[in-house]
Amino acid sequence: MQPVIIIVVCVAVAAFGAIVIARRKSQRRADEESAYNQGLNAMISGDRDAAIMHLKAAVRENPRNLDAYIKLGNLLRERGQTKQAIQVHRELLVKRRLPEAVRSSIIKCLALDLAEAERWAEVIESISSLPRGERIDPRMTVLLRDAHEKTGQMDRAIQKHKDLLKNAGPDEQPSLAVYRAHVAAIVLAAGDTAKAKAGFLGALKDDSMQAALANLYLGDMAASEQDTERAIAYWTRLLADAPSRAHLAFERLEKAYFDIGDYGRMLRVYEDVLSRVPSNVPALCGLSRMHERKGDVDEAVRMAREATKHEGSTALGHRRLIQTLVTAGRIDEAAHIADEFLARTTDEATFDRCPHCGDALGPAGWRCPSCHKWTDVD
Ligand SMILES: [Zn+2]
Repeated sequence: MQPVIIIVVCVAVAAFGAIVIARRKSQRRADEESAYNQGLNAMISGDRDAAIMHLKAAVRENPRNLDAYIKLGNLLRERGQTKQAIQVHRELLVKRRLPEAVRSSIIKCLALDLAEAERWAEVIESISSLPRGERIDPRMTVLLRDAHEKTGQMDRAIQKHKDLLKNAGPDEQPSLAVYRAHVAAIVLAAGDTAKAKAGFLGALKDDSMQAALANLYLGDMAASEQDTERAIAYWTRLLADAPSRAHLAFERLEKAYFDIGDYGRMLRVYEDVLSRVPSNVPALCGLSRMHERKGDVDEAVRMAREATKHEGSTALGHRRLIQTLVTAGRIDEAAHIADEFLARTTDEATFDRCPHCGDALGPAGWRCPSCHKWTDVD
């Protein structure tokens, strides 16, 4: 063969090869882009499962696509797969040399994963590894506050809450008074009564109306110290300052007045509340109960009937009314009312349900254990 022909053939083969390689490369880039873009589109349309699938494909095709990894981890966290989310975000930090801003945003995602998994010591650790300027991000301050609270560092938690109020948090945050009271309730549950008492008193001093529920706890503490008079004073203040929580105070006041042999005073307590809020169901039920004890069944029934009109979904009025009728031997009447009531009832609510998610709130408090929203924020 002529050298010229050999050269021509070699050039042709090389050119063909180059074209094939270039095509494959651009094909791969297109696929990768499409998996990533499909992932983004699925996120926008709210289809998390599809988004996770596409982003997984995107990182398989290009392990250097950092943004796909970060988003994948966030989606896993939102779907409750916190362990996998932590793994994805942590691996990004371990292996790579990253620009400072990218590193910070990954650390923040990791902190959110860890908080979701309630690994609070690690939350503190990861936020501490952020540069100082990034730590004041309100989302991180919220996490840090919660982490200090969960690890029992209450003074630090309160300090973080103050920082948060200064810089306005990402969602609505309770006042300092409410937060102090919330912390005091946790401290009390842990058994430190002296510190809890100081916390509740501090909360009431900050804002006696917003933290009014603190009176309930202070009353309970006084009662456990056998100081019934002081307990009554606190519970009475709760009635005055937070009528929507009245049911909590009534039970306690009834028992306390009974203990000091002045049960009749309860009548005035109920009447006083009803003069201010005539539709207060627990007060109507309490008054009904008192009339029943005194043997005035008709008045007891009248009060209970009034309570059924305002009871909402609590069924407190009906319960009282039926009890009164049964005790009085008016069985047919009771059966009729029970029948009528059950026909249209759903056994949903009690007073102590979260206004945000509807879950039960458990012991009287300020923060929902299910959705972590604050219940006293207007
Ligand atoms: Zn809730």
